[in-house]
Amino acid sequence: MWIDTHCHLDAPEFAADREAVRAAARQAGVGLCVIPAVQAADWAAVRRLAAQHGDAYALGIHPLHAPQARDEDLHVLEQALTEAAADPRLVAVGEIGLDFFVPALCTPEMRERQWHLYVAQLRVAKRHGLPVILHVRRSVDLVLKGLRQIGCVGGIAHAFNGSAQQAQAFVEQGLALGFGGALTFDGASRLRALAQGLPLSALVMETDAPDIPPQWRYRTAQARAEGAAQGRNTPAELPRIAQVLADLRGLPVAQVQAATQANAMRVLPRLAALVWA
Ligand SMILES: [Zn+2]
Repeated sequence: MWIDTHCHLDAPEFAADREAVRAAARQAGVGLCVIPAVQAADWAAVRRLAAQHGDAYALGIHPLHAPQARDEDLHVLEQALTEAAADPRLVAVGEIGLDFFVPALCTPEMRERQWHLYVAQLRVAKRHGLPVILHVRRSVDLVLKGLRQIGCVGGIAHAFNGSAQQAQAFVEQGLALGFGGALTFDGASRLRALAQGLPLSALVMETDAPDIPPQWRYRTAQARAEGAAQGRNTPAELPRIAQVLADLRGLPVAQVQAATQANAMRVLPRLAALVWA
């Protein structure tokens, strides 16, 4: 089966047709989605959604939510993980990390705040023996610094777009690299070269739906200026995105499917019980 290792099925973009979106993904061969949470207010809903659809989930505070997050949320996270300790669908702490792309998050205060929340959540993950799902936009070196300082039991660097050396550093920490719609763009030559050159054992597939639409769903700035909405990404796109990766690497897509499924189960070990269930 295909595993979408990063899919925000709980996002408001799916409020009107969530059931249909999940059913279409299943129809396309996506047997499992990992739903990473982005803020404390969503943790209960994410857990419920995963149970309802036979999917997996992660709990955490996304760096884009750092401005609203309270220190209290870290204690609530600790409690939520303890409560869910026996829940086989809880597979990681995430989505956590650092974002230095959004200008409002780059002030000295917000950089400090993001770092505080990131490191604290790494500690929580380690205490619970859970892997991490990492957001690394324009922040790869500092994210790696946190991993080296605190340590982790593995996980995924999601929407990876760094150098081969940085990729190798994540692999040495026991993580896989998440690839998705970004590599479908003809102009993404650097990312494509990376997806082509890394060992297949380092890769997992993801959509990040509803975000990061593949090229065939993407609406250009001009189209949007003329009134088109940005194309919504869905987990059903995963096999077609993986086909692009297979073509880049000159492999049968079935081999990409088998390898990335095995990789996902290696870095998020609790997935295995769900896959074989
Ligand atoms: Zn995400």
